[in-house]
Amino acid sequence: MKIISINAGSSSLKFQLFDMDSEKVLASGLFERIGIEGSLYTIKYNSEKIREEIELANHTDAVNILLEKLIALDIIASLDEIDGVGHRIVQGGDKYNKSVIITDEVISDIEAFKDLAPLHNPAGLLGIQAVREVLPDVPMVAVFDTAFHQTMKKERYLYPIPYAWYRDYKIRKYGFHGTSHRFIASKAKEILGRENIKVISCHLGSGGSICAIENGASIDTTMGFTPLAGIMMGTRSGDIDPSIIPYIMEKEGKNASEIIDDLNKVSGLLGVSETSSDFRDISKGISEGNSQCLLAQEIFIRRVVAYIAEYYVLLNGADMIVFTAGIGENSLDVRGKIVERLSCLGIKLDESANDSRGEIKKISTDDSSVLVYAIPTDEELMIARDTLELVQNG
Ligand code: AMP
Repeated sequence: MKIISINAGSSSLKFQLFDMDSEKVLASGLFERIGIEGSLYTIKYNSEKIREEIELANHTDAVNILLEKLIALDIIASLDEIDGVGHRIVQGGDKYNKSVIITDEVISDIEAFKDLAPLHNPAGLLGIQAVREVLPDVPMVAVFDTAFHQTMKKERYLYPIPYAWYRDYKIRKYGFHGTSHRFIASKAKEILGRENIKVISCHLGSGGSICAIENGASIDTTMGFTPLAGIMMGTRSGDIDPSIIPYIMEKEGKNASEIIDDLNKVSGLLGVSETSSDFRDISKGISEGNSQCLLAQEIFIRRVVAYIAEYYVLLNGADMIVFTAGIGENSLDVRGKIVERLSCLGIKLDESANDSRGEIKKISTDDSSVLVYAIPTDEELMIARDTLELVQNG
């Protein structure tokens, strides 16, 4: 069985084609600058990589070219080999607690949730519509970032604001990165060989969130009504005092959406370091004595540690803390420093084990009170697995 997982952005389309018997990636790639001058695509397969500038007027063009290339490059013999297509959809509201086969009703729900995810859901719909046009008979599945967090209890997902805002406008914590946290939960279960485990999953990428997981279910997570909440991120502030917004609106003569844009795009590591949103640049800056970079890293670490501590208490102890995504998988220094700050809980870093990237690795000592692991996440595989399961079993 062959499944394509798709992550569509407003002007991009990322894909992976899986052979689900072996869960091997047969091809992966990215279509960029869709609808913009200078559009191009990259496809990787076997050990080859092709890159071509080509006009892509819309997402349908991208899907058409993708399928054409898969055949031309002999990756598949015909379109009949595609058994299903899974789409990453950011916001599934409080209606979807798991992945679903895409029907007209699902499409209109994703459309309706646009209000809650104005940047992301419309992009997901572009991907769905493009595949529907090109492969009308192939089943498609929606995999929601929010679905995994639907197990949170009301006292965890409600904000202490007028209850009518929740009742009338559905203002609540939704949480995101659910597909990654679910992948980590399943890996932790595999590693420990039992179901009833408590895991603190730290997805530290350019976007980041932490999730408290008990018995395979999310009980709390740091992102909120939108992905702007929680820990400090590459360009996003994470949690701040909301009174800052009207104050800075007046000081800078901006409107609320311009300030939210600043909190999303020029805050976080970039905002504090005044150098870069990329942790590699922050680390380089620190090694060159840049004090703003050091400050940015310090705030980042402090905020991650604070949430791990909160979730440790919420879970009444933890079996495993996991680091994943770009920073969690690769920045040995940052994850080492985070673990060191947890020493008051009896959590101990194994420094030599921490010298590892790109593999599942225990990085805590044998006498650490909690296991600490680095685990590479794989959201695309999760999307493909859900798609296969629904295509086969409905
Ligand atoms: P992601 O969004 O998961 O792709 O993660 C992107 C983040 O991971 C960026 O801040 C990168 O700087 C960071 N990252 C990737 N590789 C490394 C590395 N080798 N060392 C430190 N940070 C890294």
